[in-house]
Amino acid sequence: MIDTIRECFRKRFQKDDFCAFVKVFGCQQNEADAEKIKGFLKSIGFSFVNDPIVADLVLFETCAVRHTAENRVFGQIGSLKNIKKMNPNAFISVCGCMVERDEVNTKLKKMFPYVDLICGAKSLDHFPNMLYEKLTSKKIDSFCEMPVLRESKFHAWVPIISGCNNFCSYCIVPFVRGSEKSIDHNIIINDCIKNINSGAKILTLLGQNVNSYDFNGVKFTDLIKMIDKLDGNFIFRFMTSHPKDFNKELVDVLSQCKHFSGNIHLPVQSGNNRILKLMNRKYKVEDYIEKINYARSKINNLVLTSDIIVGFPGETDSEFNDTLDLVKNIKFNSIFTFIYSPRKGTAAYSMVDDIPYDVKSARISNLIKSQEKISEDLLSDLVGKNFHVIIESISDNYSLARTKSNLLVKLENLILPTGKIFEVKITSSNRNCLIAEILR
Ligand code: SF4
Repeated sequence: MIDTIRECFRKRFQKDDFCAFVKVFGCQQNEADAEKIKGFLKSIGFSFVNDPIVADLVLFETCAVRHTAENRVFGQIGSLKNIKKMNPNAFISVCGCMVERDEVNTKLKKMFPYVDLICGAKSLDHFPNMLYEKLTSKKIDSFCEMPVLRESKFHAWVPIISGCNNFCSYCIVPFVRGSEKSIDHNIIINDCIKNINSGAKILTLLGQNVNSYDFNGVKFTDLIKMIDKLDGNFIFRFMTSHPKDFNKELVDVLSQCKHFSGNIHLPVQSGNNRILKLMNRKYKVEDYIEKINYARSKINNLVLTSDIIVGFPGETDSEFNDTLDLVKNIKFNSIFTFIYSPRKGTAAYSMVDDIPYDVKSARISNLIKSQEKISEDLLSDLVGKNFHVIIESISDNYSLARTKSNLLVKLENLILPTGKIFEVKITSSNRNCLIAEILR
Protein backbone atom coordinates (compact mmCIF):
# COMPACT_ATOMS: atom_id res chain seq x y z
CA MET A 1 0.00 0.00 0.00
CA ILE A 2 2.79 2.42 0.98
CA ASP A 3 4.62 1.90 -2.33
CA THR A 4 1.45 2.61 -4.30
CA ILE A 5 0.70 5.78 -2.32
CA ARG A 6 4.30 6.95 -2.76
CA GLU A 7 4.08 6.34 -6.50
CA CYS A 8 0.81 8.25 -6.74
CA PHE A 9 2.33 11.24 -4.95
CA ARG A 10 5.44 11.01 -7.14
CA LYS A 11 3.25 11.33 -10.21
CA ARG A 12 1.04 14.01 -8.69
CA PHE A 13 3.90 16.23 -7.46
CA GLN A 14 6.26 15.35 -10.36
CA LYS A 15 9.18 14.85 -7.99
CA ASP A 16 10.75 12.30 -5.65
CA ASP A 17 11.00 14.38 -2.44
CA PHE A 18 7.76 15.67 -0.93
CA CYS A 19 7.12 17.82 2.11
CA ALA A 20 4.14 18.23 4.38
CA PHE A 21 2.81 20.92 6.71
CA VAL A 22 0.83 19.48 9.64
CA LYS A 23 -0.97 21.80 12.06
CA VAL A 24 -2.56 20.58 15.27
CA PHE A 25 -5.47 22.29 17.03
CA GLY A 26 -6.77 21.29 20.46
CA CYS A 27 -5.76 18.81 23.08
CA GLN A 28 -2.95 16.33 23.78
CA GLN A 29 -4.98 13.52 22.21
CA ASN A 30 -4.82 15.44 18.93
CA GLU A 31 -1.06 15.92 19.39
CA ALA A 32 -0.71 12.16 19.79
CA ASP A 33 -2.92 11.47 16.75
CA ALA A 34 -0.88 13.91 14.66
CA GLU A 35 2.32 12.08 15.65
CA LYS A 36 0.77 8.92 14.15
CA ILE A 37 -0.22 10.71 10.94
CA LYS A 38 3.25 12.26 10.64
CA GLY A 39 4.85 8.87 11.25
CA PHE A 40 2.81 7.43 8.40
CA LEU A 41 3.57 10.36 6.08
CA LYS A 42 7.28 9.97 6.88
CA SER A 43 7.09 6.27 5.95
CA ILE A 44 5.79 7.36 2.52
CA GLY A 45 8.74 9.71 2.11
CA PHE A 46 7.48 13.08 3.36
CA SER A 47 9.66 15.52 5.23
CA PHE A 48 8.06 18.35 7.23
CA VAL A 49 8.03 22.12 6.81
CA ASN A 50 6.72 25.00 8.93
CA ASP A 51 5.12 26.94 6.09
CA PRO A 52 2.04 25.68 4.22
CA ILE A 53 2.99 27.72 1.14
CA VAL A 54 5.98 25.52 0.36
CA ALA A 55 4.25 22.24 1.30
CA ASP A 56 3.02 19.57 -1.15
CA LEU A 57 0.59 18.28 1.44
CA VAL A 58 -1.21 20.38 4.05
CA LEU A 59 -3.02 18.62 6.88
CA PHE A 60 -5.04 20.08 9.76
CA GLU A 61 -5.71 17.95 12.85
CA THR A 62 -8.77 19.73 14.20
CA CYS A 63 -10.61 20.22 17.51
CA ALA A 64 -14.37 20.45 18.08
CA VAL A 65 -14.43 21.40 21.75
CA ARG A 66 -14.95 25.14 21.29
CA HIS A 67 -16.83 27.12 18.67
CA THR A 68 -13.99 29.64 18.37
CA ALA A 69 -11.48 26.85 17.58
CA GLU A 70 -13.76 25.63 14.80
CA ASN A 71 -14.04 29.11 13.30
CA ARG A 72 -10.26 29.44 13.36
CA VAL A 73 -9.91 26.18 11.44
CA PHE A 74 -12.49 27.29 8.85
CA GLY A 75 -10.56 30.55 8.42
CA GLN A 76 -7.30 28.69 7.88
CA ILE A 77 -8.83 26.21 5.42
CA GLY A 78 -10.21 29.23 3.52
CA SER A 79 -6.73 30.68 3.22
CA LEU A 80 -5.51 27.44 1.58
CA LYS A 81 -7.46 28.39 -1.53
CA ASN A 82 -4.53 30.54 -2.65
CA ILE A 83 -2.10 27.67 -2.13
CA LYS A 84 -4.28 25.45 -4.28
CA LYS A 85 -4.36 28.21 -6.94
CA MET A 86 -0.58 28.51 -6.97
CA ASN A 87 -0.07 24.75 -6.79
CA PRO A 88 -3.16 22.85 -8.05
CA ASN A 89 -1.44 19.53 -7.24
CA ALA A 90 -1.13 20.36 -3.54
CA PHE A 91 -2.96 17.78 -1.43
CA ILE A 92 -5.14 19.13 1.37
CA SER A 93 -6.52 17.03 4.20
CA VAL A 94 -8.65 17.90 7.23
CA CYS A 95 -8.67 15.35 10.06
CA GLY A 96 -9.65 15.11 13.73
CA CYS A 97 -12.69 15.74 15.91
CA MET A 98 -14.26 18.63 14.03
CA VAL A 99 -14.96 16.60 10.91
CA GLU A 100 -16.79 13.94 12.92
CA ARG A 101 -19.68 16.42 13.11
CA ASP A 102 -22.06 15.97 10.16
CA GLU A 103 -22.84 19.66 9.81
CA VAL A 104 -19.11 20.51 9.69
CA ASN A 105 -18.50 17.82 7.11
CA THR A 106 -21.28 19.15 4.89
CA LYS A 107 -20.05 22.72 5.30
CA LEU A 108 -16.49 21.70 4.47
CA LYS A 109 -17.49 19.91 1.28
CA LYS A 110 -19.68 22.80 0.18
CA MET A 111 -17.41 25.72 1.04
CA PHE A 112 -14.00 24.18 0.40
CA PRO A 113 -14.27 21.75 -2.54
CA TYR A 114 -10.48 21.85 -2.91
CA VAL A 115 -10.06 19.77 0.30
CA ASP A 116 -8.90 16.36 -0.98
CA LEU A 117 -9.37 14.14 2.06
CA ILE A 118 -11.48 14.35 5.21
CA CYS A 119 -10.71 11.84 7.96
CA GLY A 120 -12.51 12.01 11.33
CA ALA A 121 -10.95 11.18 14.70
CA LYS A 122 -12.77 7.84 14.92
CA SER A 123 -11.34 6.82 11.51
CA LEU A 124 -7.71 7.71 12.27
CA ASP A 125 -6.53 4.10 11.91
CA HIS A 126 -8.10 4.05 8.43
CA PHE A 127 -6.18 7.13 7.29
CA PRO A 128 -3.74 5.04 5.15
CA ASN A 129 -6.64 3.21 3.46
CA MET A 130 -8.55 6.44 2.89
CA LEU A 131 -5.47 8.04 1.36
CA TYR A 132 -4.91 5.02 -0.87
CA GLU A 133 -8.53 5.00 -2.02
CA LYS A 134 -8.50 8.75 -2.70
CA LEU A 135 -5.31 8.57 -4.77
CA THR A 136 -6.09 5.39 -6.72
CA SER A 137 -9.92 5.44 -6.76
CA LYS A 138 -9.70 1.76 -5.78
CA LYS A 139 -10.94 0.03 -2.62
CA ILE A 140 -8.42 -1.69 -0.38
CA ASP A 141 -9.11 -4.13 2.40
CA SER A 142 -5.86 -4.32 4.35
CA PHE A 143 -4.54 -2.72 7.54
CA CYS A 144 -1.44 -0.56 7.59
CA GLU A 145 0.34 0.27 10.87
CA MET A 146 0.95 3.95 11.50
CA PRO A 147 4.36 4.35 13.16
CA VAL A 148 4.52 7.28 15.59
CA LEU A 149 6.85 10.15 14.75
CA ARG A 150 7.63 11.49 18.22
CA GLU A 151 7.98 15.28 18.19
CA SER A 152 10.06 15.37 21.37
CA LYS A 153 13.29 13.52 22.09
CA PHE A 154 12.49 13.12 25.77
CA HIS A 155 8.69 13.11 26.03
CA ALA A 156 6.26 10.50 24.70
CA TRP A 157 2.47 10.40 24.60
CA VAL A 158 1.22 6.93 25.43
CA PRO A 159 -2.48 6.56 24.50
CA ILE A 160 -4.16 4.05 26.83
CA ILE A 161 -7.88 4.62 26.23
CA SER A 162 -9.86 6.48 23.59
CA GLY A 163 -13.38 7.87 23.65
CA CYS A 164 -15.54 8.76 26.62
CA ASN A 165 -18.76 7.41 28.19
CA ASN A 166 -19.39 10.29 30.57
CA PHE A 167 -21.44 12.74 28.54
CA CYS A 168 -20.76 15.83 30.62
CA SER A 169 -23.56 18.06 29.45
CA TYR A 170 -21.31 20.72 27.86
CA CYS A 171 -18.91 18.37 26.09
CA ILE A 172 -18.86 17.28 22.46
CA VAL A 173 -16.04 14.74 22.93
CA PRO A 174 -18.18 11.56 23.42
CA PHE A 175 -19.96 12.41 20.15
CA VAL A 176 -16.83 12.94 18.11
CA ARG A 177 -14.50 10.39 19.71
CA GLY A 178 -17.07 7.68 20.43
CA SER A 179 -17.35 5.39 23.43
CA GLU A 180 -14.45 4.26 25.62
CA LYS A 181 -12.07 1.70 24.22
CA SER A 182 -9.13 0.62 26.36
CA ILE A 183 -5.96 -0.44 24.58
CA ASP A 184 -4.48 -3.89 25.33
CA HIS A 185 -2.10 -3.47 28.29
CA ASN A 186 0.53 -5.58 26.49
CA ILE A 187 0.57 -3.05 23.64
CA ILE A 188 0.82 -0.17 26.13
CA ILE A 189 3.70 -1.77 28.02
CA ASN A 190 5.56 -2.44 24.77
CA ASP A 191 4.92 1.14 23.75
CA CYS A 192 6.38 2.37 27.07
CA ILE A 193 9.45 0.11 26.76
CA LYS A 194 10.06 1.24 23.18
CA ASN A 195 9.82 4.89 24.20
CA ILE A 196 12.06 4.48 27.25
CA ASN A 197 14.66 2.61 25.17
CA SER A 198 14.63 5.37 22.57
CA GLY A 199 15.34 8.07 25.16
CA ALA A 200 11.94 9.19 26.50
CA LYS A 201 12.26 10.39 30.09
CA ILE A 202 8.63 11.45 30.50
CA LEU A 203 5.69 9.25 29.55
CA THR A 204 2.23 10.82 29.56
CA LEU A 205 -0.52 8.21 29.67
CA LEU A 206 -3.31 9.63 27.61
CA GLY A 207 -7.07 9.29 27.44
CA GLN A 208 -10.26 11.33 27.85
CA ASN A 209 -10.81 9.56 31.17
CA VAL A 210 -7.78 7.46 32.07
CA ASN A 211 -9.36 6.36 35.36
CA SER A 212 -11.92 4.20 33.59
CA TYR A 213 -9.19 2.17 31.83
CA ASP A 214 -10.25 -1.49 31.82
CA PHE A 215 -8.84 -4.03 29.39
CA ASN A 216 -10.19 -7.52 30.11
CA GLY A 217 -10.27 -6.77 33.82
CA VAL A 218 -6.88 -5.01 33.94
CA LYS A 219 -7.73 -1.66 35.56
CA PHE A 220 -5.90 1.67 35.61
CA THR A 221 -4.22 0.92 38.94
CA ASP A 222 -3.00 -2.47 37.58
CA LEU A 223 -1.61 -0.75 34.50
CA ILE A 224 0.20 1.84 36.60
CA LYS A 225 1.79 -0.87 38.73
CA MET A 226 3.02 -2.61 35.55
CA ILE A 227 4.50 0.62 34.18
CA ASP A 228 6.15 1.46 37.48
CA LYS A 229 7.97 -1.90 37.42
CA LEU A 230 9.71 -1.04 34.13
CA ASP A 231 13.43 -0.35 34.22
CA GLY A 232 14.86 2.97 33.15
CA ASN A 233 15.31 6.59 34.09
CA PHE A 234 11.79 7.84 33.41
CA ILE A 235 8.73 9.33 35.08
CA PHE A 236 5.08 8.93 34.12
CA ARG A 237 2.11 11.28 34.27
CA PHE A 238 -1.43 10.78 33.14
CA MET A 239 -4.28 12.86 31.85
CA THR A 240 -7.13 13.40 32.06
CA SER A 241 -8.68 12.13 35.26
CA HIS A 242 -12.34 12.37 36.16
CA PRO A 243 -12.97 13.26 39.83
CA LYS A 244 -15.83 10.74 40.09
CA ASP A 245 -13.41 7.89 39.28
CA PHE A 246 -10.32 9.28 41.01
CA ASN A 247 -10.25 7.25 44.23
CA LYS A 248 -8.24 6.35 47.31
CA GLU A 249 -7.03 3.10 45.79
CA LEU A 250 -5.40 5.04 42.94
CA VAL A 251 -3.79 7.50 45.36
CA ASP A 252 -2.46 4.61 47.47
CA VAL A 253 -0.91 3.01 44.39
CA LEU A 254 0.58 6.30 43.17
CA SER A 255 2.07 6.99 46.59
CA GLN A 256 4.07 3.75 46.26
CA CYS A 257 5.26 4.34 42.68
CA LYS A 258 8.93 5.28 42.23
CA HIS A 259 8.36 6.60 38.69
CA PHE A 260 5.25 8.74 39.36
CA SER A 261 5.86 12.40 38.56
CA GLY A 262 3.90 13.81 41.50
CA ASN A 263 1.47 15.97 39.56
CA ILE A 264 -2.22 15.39 39.01
CA HIS A 265 -4.59 17.20 36.71
CA LEU A 266 -8.09 16.84 38.10
CA PRO A 267 -10.69 19.05 36.38
CA VAL A 268 -13.25 20.31 38.91
CA GLN A 269 -15.12 22.55 36.42
CA SER A 270 -17.25 24.31 39.07
CA GLY A 271 -17.33 24.86 42.82
CA ASN A 272 -21.11 24.72 43.03
CA ASN A 273 -23.16 21.52 43.38
CA ARG A 274 -26.16 22.73 41.39
CA ILE A 275 -23.94 23.64 38.45
CA LEU A 276 -21.98 20.36 38.75
CA LYS A 277 -25.30 18.50 38.55
CA LEU A 278 -26.36 20.48 35.48
CA MET A 279 -22.95 19.67 33.99
CA ASN A 280 -23.64 15.96 34.68
CA ARG A 281 -20.31 15.63 36.45
CA LYS A 282 -21.57 13.03 38.98
CA TYR A 283 -19.65 14.28 42.03
CA LYS A 284 -20.17 16.94 44.64
CA VAL A 285 -17.79 19.68 45.72
CA GLU A 286 -17.41 17.95 49.12
CA ASP A 287 -16.32 14.69 47.41
CA TYR A 288 -13.75 16.58 45.37
CA ILE A 289 -12.28 18.32 48.42
CA GLU A 290 -12.11 15.02 50.32
CA LYS A 291 -10.25 13.34 47.45
CA ILE A 292 -7.74 16.20 47.22
CA ASN A 293 -7.16 16.18 50.98
CA TYR A 294 -6.51 12.44 50.85
CA ALA A 295 -4.14 12.76 47.87
CA ARG A 296 -2.21 15.54 49.62
CA SER A 297 -1.96 13.48 52.79
CA LYS A 298 -0.41 10.53 50.88
CA ILE A 299 1.69 12.20 48.16
CA ASN A 300 4.35 14.65 49.33
CA ASN A 301 4.49 18.02 47.54
CA LEU A 302 1.66 17.06 45.18
CA VAL A 303 1.33 19.52 42.31
CA LEU A 304 -2.34 19.92 41.49
CA THR A 305 -3.89 21.52 38.43
CA SER A 306 -7.49 21.78 37.27
CA ASP A 307 -9.92 23.02 34.60
CA ILE A 308 -12.76 25.43 35.33
CA ILE A 309 -15.64 26.60 33.15
CA VAL A 310 -17.28 29.93 33.96
CA GLY A 311 -20.63 31.19 32.71
CA PHE A 312 -22.38 27.81 32.42
CA PRO A 313 -26.11 28.40 31.64
CA GLY A 314 -27.87 29.74 34.71
CA GLU A 315 -24.70 30.25 36.79
CA THR A 316 -25.54 33.01 39.28
CA ASP A 317 -23.05 35.41 40.86
CA SER A 318 -23.27 33.48 44.08
CA GLU A 319 -22.65 30.15 42.31
CA PHE A 320 -19.63 31.64 40.58
CA ASN A 321 -18.42 32.88 43.99
CA ASP A 322 -18.59 29.24 45.19
CA THR A 323 -16.09 28.39 42.45
CA LEU A 324 -13.90 31.30 43.49
CA ASP A 325 -14.04 30.13 47.12
CA LEU A 326 -13.14 26.58 46.12
CA VAL A 327 -10.12 27.81 44.17
CA LYS A 328 -8.96 29.88 47.15
CA ASN A 329 -9.58 26.96 49.47
CA ILE A 330 -7.88 24.23 47.47
CA LYS A 331 -4.98 26.36 46.23
CA PHE A 332 -4.30 24.68 42.91
CA ASN A 333 -0.82 25.20 41.51
CA SER A 334 -2.46 26.39 38.31
CA ILE A 335 -5.80 26.21 36.53
CA PHE A 336 -6.99 26.28 32.93
CA THR A 337 -10.01 28.54 32.69
CA PHE A 338 -12.65 28.53 29.98
CA ILE A 339 -15.72 30.55 29.15
CA TYR A 340 -18.67 28.22 28.51
CA SER A 341 -19.07 27.60 24.78
CA PRO A 342 -22.38 26.01 23.63
CA ARG A 343 -21.88 23.01 21.34
CA LYS A 344 -24.73 21.77 19.20
CA GLY A 345 -25.61 18.15 20.00
CA THR A 346 -24.71 18.35 23.69
CA ALA A 347 -27.32 18.33 26.48
CA ALA A 348 -26.35 21.83 27.62
CA TYR A 349 -27.08 23.19 24.14
CA SER A 350 -30.79 23.07 24.97
CA MET A 351 -30.22 25.19 28.11
CA VAL A 352 -30.50 28.95 27.68
CA ASP A 353 -27.01 30.45 27.40
CA ASP A 354 -28.21 33.36 29.52
CA ILE A 355 -25.04 34.83 31.00
CA PRO A 356 -24.08 38.01 29.11
CA TYR A 357 -20.60 37.91 27.61
CA ASP A 358 -19.35 40.84 29.71
CA VAL A 359 -20.41 38.98 32.89
CA LYS A 360 -18.60 35.82 31.72
CA SER A 361 -15.53 37.94 30.93
CA ALA A 362 -15.58 39.66 34.31
CA ARG A 363 -15.91 36.27 36.05
CA ILE A 364 -13.01 34.70 34.19
CA SER A 365 -10.79 37.75 34.84
CA ASN A 366 -11.66 37.60 38.52
CA LEU A 367 -10.85 33.87 38.62
CA ILE A 368 -7.55 34.27 36.77
CA LYS A 369 -6.51 37.14 39.06
CA SER A 370 -7.22 35.08 42.19
CA GLN A 371 -5.37 32.08 40.81
CA GLU A 372 -2.35 34.18 39.80
CA LYS A 373 -1.91 35.28 43.40
CA ILE A 374 -2.20 31.66 44.63
CA SER A 375 0.26 30.37 41.99
CA GLU A 376 2.68 33.16 42.86
CA ASP A 377 2.53 32.38 46.59
CA LEU A 378 2.96 28.62 46.05
CA LEU A 379 5.96 29.18 43.78
CA SER A 380 7.59 31.64 46.18
CA ASP A 381 7.41 28.97 48.92
CA LEU A 382 9.89 26.95 46.84
CA VAL A 383 12.63 29.60 46.75
CA GLY A 384 15.85 28.17 48.24
CA LYS A 385 14.90 24.57 47.42
CA ASN A 386 16.79 22.23 45.06
CA PHE A 387 15.19 20.28 42.21
CA HIS A 388 16.15 18.03 39.36
CA VAL A 389 14.82 19.54 36.15
CA ILE A 390 14.68 18.48 32.52
CA ILE A 391 15.52 21.10 29.89
CA GLU A 392 12.55 21.50 27.55
CA SER A 393 13.42 24.41 25.30
CA ILE A 394 15.90 27.20 24.78
CA SER A 395 15.57 30.82 23.79
CA ASP A 396 18.16 33.52 22.93
CA ASN A 397 19.53 33.85 26.44
CA TYR A 398 17.71 31.39 28.68
CA SER A 399 16.59 27.77 28.97
CA LEU A 400 13.18 26.59 30.11
CA ALA A 401 12.93 23.43 32.15
CA ARG A 402 10.37 21.45 34.17
CA THR A 403 10.59 19.85 37.56
CA LYS A 404 9.52 16.21 37.81
CA SER A 405 6.11 17.46 38.96
CA ASN A 406 5.82 19.75 35.91
CA LEU A 407 6.58 23.18 37.43
CA LEU A 408 8.14 25.60 34.95
CA VAL A 409 11.72 26.69 35.71
CA LYS A 410 13.66 29.43 33.92
CA LEU A 411 17.46 29.29 33.83
CA GLU A 412 18.58 32.78 32.83
CA ASN A 413 21.69 33.40 30.71
CA LEU A 414 22.12 29.68 30.14
CA ILE A 415 21.67 27.75 26.92
CA LEU A 416 21.49 24.09 27.90
CA PRO A 417 20.90 20.92 25.87
CA THR A 418 17.22 19.95 25.67
CA GLY A 419 16.32 16.61 27.20
CA LYS A 420 19.19 16.72 29.72
CA ILE A 421 18.57 16.64 33.47
CA PHE A 422 20.29 19.10 35.85
CA GLU A 423 20.10 19.79 39.54
CA VAL A 424 19.16 23.41 40.20
CA LYS A 425 18.58 25.76 43.12
CA ILE A 426 15.55 28.04 43.06
CA THR A 427 16.70 31.63 43.54
CA SER A 428 13.45 33.54 42.97
CA SER A 429 10.01 33.20 41.41
CA ASN A 430 7.21 35.08 39.75
CA ARG A 431 3.57 34.18 39.16
CA ASN A 432 4.38 31.96 36.14
CA CYS A 433 7.60 30.20 36.96
CA LEU A 434 10.55 29.50 39.19
CA ILE A 435 13.92 31.12 38.47
CA ALA A 436 16.92 28.93 39.17
CA GLU A 437 20.65 28.52 38.95
CA ILE A 438 22.47 25.33 38.10
CA LEU A 439 24.09 23.25 40.81
CA ARG A 440 25.33 20.47 38.54
S1 SF4 B 1 -15.20 13.27 30.98
FE1 SF4 B 1 -16.70 14.83 30.42
S2 SF4 B 1 -15.44 16.60 29.83
FE2 SF4 B 1 -14.09 14.81 29.77
S3 SF4 B 1 -14.18 14.08 27.65
FE3 SF4 B 1 -15.72 12.93 28.79
S4 SF4 B 1 -17.61 14.09 28.51
FE4 SF4 B 1 -15.92 15.45 27.94
